[in-house]
Amino acid sequence: MKMENIRVRFAPSPTGYVHVGNARTALFNWLFARHHKGTFVLRIEDTDVERSEKRFETQLLEDLKWFGLDWDEGPDFGGPLGPYRQSERQALYRQRSLELIERGHAYYCFCSAEQLEEERQEALKAGRQPQYSGRCRQIPKEDAERRVAAGEPAAIRLKIMDWNLAWNDLVHGETSFSSDVIGDPILVRSGGVPAYNFAVVVDDHLMNITHVIRGDDHISNTPRQLALYKAFGWQPPQFAHLSTILGGDRARLSKRHGATSLESFRAMGILPEALRNYLTLLGWSPADGKTEILDTEELVQQFSLDHIIKSAAVFDQEKLNWLNRHYLKQLPMPELVEAAVPFLAHAGLISEPVVLPVAEWLELVLDAVINKIDYLSQLPDAVRLIFEYDVRKAAESMGTIESADNAATRELLKRVVSGILEERQITYPRFREILKEVQKETGKKGKELFHPVRVALTGAESGPELEKLVPIFEKGAALKLKPPVKSVAERMREFSNTAHLFFCG
Ligand code: GLU
Repeated sequence: MKMENIRVRFAPSPTGYVHVGNARTALFNWLFARHHKGTFVLRIEDTDVERSEKRFETQLLEDLKWFGLDWDEGPDFGGPLGPYRQSERQALYRQRSLELIERGHAYYCFCSAEQLEEERQEALKAGRQPQYSGRCRQIPKEDAERRVAAGEPAAIRLKIMDWNLAWNDLVHGETSFSSDVIGDPILVRSGGVPAYNFAVVVDDHLMNITHVIRGDDHISNTPRQLALYKAFGWQPPQFAHLSTILGGDRARLSKRHGATSLESFRAMGILPEALRNYLTLLGWSPADGKTEILDTEELVQQFSLDHIIKSAAVFDQEKLNWLNRHYLKQLPMPELVEAAVPFLAHAGLISEPVVLPVAEWLELVLDAVINKIDYLSQLPDAVRLIFEYDVRKAAESMGTIESADNAATRELLKRVVSGILEERQITYPRFREILKEVQKETGKKGKELFHPVRVALTGAESGPELEKLVPIFEKGAALKLKPPVKSVAERMREFSNTAHLFFCG
């Protein structure tokens, strides 16, 4: 096969948010398609009418786009082998199931749910693996068709034959199942709904899928699907089953481990490029076995199914955070501002839309704190001291400064305040000069000088360098934002007015 004819698909069921496992499956299919200049198909498997919801499909498409994946054929804009939503392919499944009946590979089954349950219980009691007995195989085709025509409810089952159900899994190697352990699977339920294994084979074949890359929870479905390929006389695709993703406690990754859906990573402020890098490494390694930072272009260039890791992968939020920090720092400033604004707006710190001078000022703000955060939802707390000046907290914190010599600190701050209040607008160099003068006058220097000043100015014991904060306060105040950012002088004036809270001793 020419590699450019490669066709892969991501086939999610719209029954919930896109989980890490599925996101990684989508990503591996996409990388494989893009690497080989093949086709990436998005197919919505919504035959489970009770659990499928339109809103999940909408969210799914949006989440995949946010994740940075694009598809060449899909439910939103179609393609040559559509429709790409299983609910719109019912007639095809029906037609194909009748074809199998015609060819003697499938039959109508009239067993009731109670009968099947009874059989199941008997098998369990006898210590046997429950498996359909094949009772309805015996019914002559004409009799069965007459009963169906008369309105009797019937499912359609595949007649499993003595087939060799083996495949060379591109991840797990030679894999085989004996056809004895597989009961005749249902293809179409009595209500007319196609079973997953049937719809998936019909679709993969009709959509010319060459490689099925999916989670290893589908390994046990594969022999049933291979049986269907045999019954139809179709060439099966190649299969690659990706290992399960586990949490740090080695239990299957689930919500209780924290963020696990694309939606939650987005809300956390993980960048899609960081997540793509991280999830690719979660189950694949580059040829050199060690490079960890690979941008998407490099991933596309290097991706191959040969280097997929067989063993279960353990999800490591710390490593994702580390990669996210890397990509946050790499992001050109205007893009970082764009990514950050929704988080600041959500926290009520700024209002949208953000116009140019504000965007430029936000570049200074982000530059001051970007080294201090792992992901963008931590941003509001990291920048709060810029947007909100809590004078009470400033005055109270002053009392907690270790080994503070109250009288001396009071004196020092008084001088800083009066120095600053003499200025209309202050630059950092001028601010430094004032501190230098106070240092000369009081003999206090280093931490003893800077720390009380920082606390008085920001209300916090730690934070970005004053060299960055001073211009941020000054320029922010000049922008007259709502709510307003207070200038250095405003802060110091408020502080000295409220200082009796601290200085009363
Ligand atoms: N709808 C199935 C799922 O979401 C797709 C399985 C497959 O890729 O064959 O698990």
